[in-house]
Amino acid sequence: MSLPTTLNLLELTSACIKLAQESGDIIREVFKSGSLGIEMKSVDDPMTKADLLSQQHIIGSLRTIWKDLNIVGEEQCEIPVIDKRPPIDLLLNDKDCIEKCPEEFKELPIEDLIIFIDPLDATREFTLGRVGCVMTLIGISFRGKPIAGIIYQPFVDCNGDATTDQSQWVGRTIWAIVGVPVKGIKDKRSKDDIGKVLLVTTASHFNDRVQQAVDAIKPDKLLRAGGAGYKSLMVIENQADVYVFPTVGSKLWDICGPHAILLAVGGKLTDPKGNDIIYSTNPEKIENKNGIIITISNHQKYIDLLNN
Ligand code: AMP
Ligand code: MG
Ligand code: MG
Repeated sequence: MSLPTTLNLLELTSACIKLAQESGDIIREVFKSGSLGIEMKSVDDPMTKADLLSQQHIIGSLRTIWKDLNIVGEEQCEIPVIDKRPPIDLLLNDKDCIEKCPEEFKELPIEDLIIFIDPLDATREFTLGRVGCVMTLIGISFRGKPIAGIIYQPFVDCNGDATTDQSQWVGRTIWAIVGVPVKGIKDKRSKDDIGKVLLVTTASHFNDRVQQAVDAIKPDKLLRAGGAGYKSLMVIENQADVYVFPTVGSKLWDICGPHAILLAVGGKLTDPKGNDIIYSTNPEKIENKNGIIITISNHQKYIDLLNN
């Protein structure tokens, strides 16, 4: 029997939503166990048991349905054979979503798709117990551009740490398909910040280049937080106007999912010169060597400030 050559994006996104949520269960369980199994991939790049198990679960489960799908996961690990297929009907039961989804997305050539998975973003903060910024990120790209993204936040309202009552740990899912109106995203801007420029950037990889970008933009407020997913969400939910990280470090799996959601709500993500990011499997291009800038509006204004 020959394998299918096309897939329905609504089915793939449905599976990814479910798997991101299940990865959240895995991440919470590992955290509760108190045994994180921390290994250093390089001096500044930790990995835990939760990163590995989350990636194995997501990729192994996707492979039960789409055997030859191109998947790029952050971790270098064996992918176990999993029997249980993830459900693919979640969005097929959403009339609005079916109507608004571009028809071409319902029959996409599989060979033109690449899925980028960060099974646990903000690992460093996770190992320090600052779990509020931990996210599972899944991005679906088509011919180099993001078309759907899923972010799962396993620890919501933990005041940035996990010392709160474990029974209160709940997760939340944010997902979007570009072109389909996004549901459930709240405007979280505080009244005091209306009319101000809020810039968010790295908490743990701050350097001279980041400082130069801050000096060029001159924000009213500088916010620092962990995780590419967490900071992207701050822009998507209007808690920050611009997220800038003008230096090496972030990879395509850090931004593909957030980028799709950002596009779906009218935002923009480029390198700091304003060049598009191309999503490919070329190992040379997996790292965003020039850095990234993410905005919800006025993108060109910030590019000009950074480059003049
Ligand atoms: P940060 O804003 O510093 O929390 O970085 C956001 C995400 O980008 C991290 O969770 C990592 O996945 C990745 N990242 C950024 N800088 C580095 C780096 N120097 N080494 C490894 N990963 C990095
Ligand atoms: Mg990451
Ligand atoms: Mg990660």
